[in-house]
Amino acid sequence: MDGKRDVAEKILDRLLVIHPQPVCELNFSTPFELLVAVILSAQCTDKRVNEVTKTLFAKYNTPEDFANIDREELEKLIYSCGFYKNKAANIISAATDVITRFGGQVPSRVDQLVTLAGVGRKTANVVYAVAFGGQAMAVDTHVLRLANRIGFVKTDRPEVAEKALTDAIPERRWTEAHHLLIHHGRYVCKARNPECDKCTICEYCDYYAQICGNPVKTEN
Ligand code: SF4
Repeated sequence: MDGKRDVAEKILDRLLVIHPQPVCELNFSTPFELLVAVILSAQCTDKRVNEVTKTLFAKYNTPEDFANIDREELEKLIYSCGFYKNKAANIISAATDVITRFGGQVPSRVDQLVTLAGVGRKTANVVYAVAFGGQAMAVDTHVLRLANRIGFVKTDRPEVAEKALTDAIPERRWTEAHHLLIHHGRYVCKARNPECDKCTICEYCDYYAQICGNPVKTEN
């Protein structure tokens, strides 16, 4: 386990070289705004979500606003994020839950966040990590792809990848690792054409070893 953790930390240190500011790219000013933004980000780019929430949050941004919003109006406002009907229903349900069960405050624990209607484990982990400064490994499509390509895990199940990553990575770096893997997946290790020539972790990557052969490992 120590060896695995050592390698995991080396991978994170290498990723930091090309992604020196691994932070959430969604714009928000309150935990509830972040919750809404993360729900909207499913199957959508952060850039598009930020465009939509710029207008949306100028008019509606509290749990009360969204619990009472006209659903059709919300659907129109978030239409370009895709899956707008489901997302509108989830946002309204989550807002109602925040008011009725948590006194209007977004809960700050993952086990509470996952009980909100329309909030899954990935969303709960992101809100916990980004809004409340917790350590969590939220597994989205980029993190899942990277975890498989590098070789932390061979699975299509996010919960299995979360367990493997949190076993391999020290807890103090879970949130940083989540952001690093997302940035790397978004800008370098892309789904269709990974840009391995720009990558700093080739020597630790199973995918690279299969495609290009095993590079010589260096000290740092
Ligand atoms: S070497 Fe290629 S496949 Fe492996 S993590 Fe880097 S970009 Fe992705």
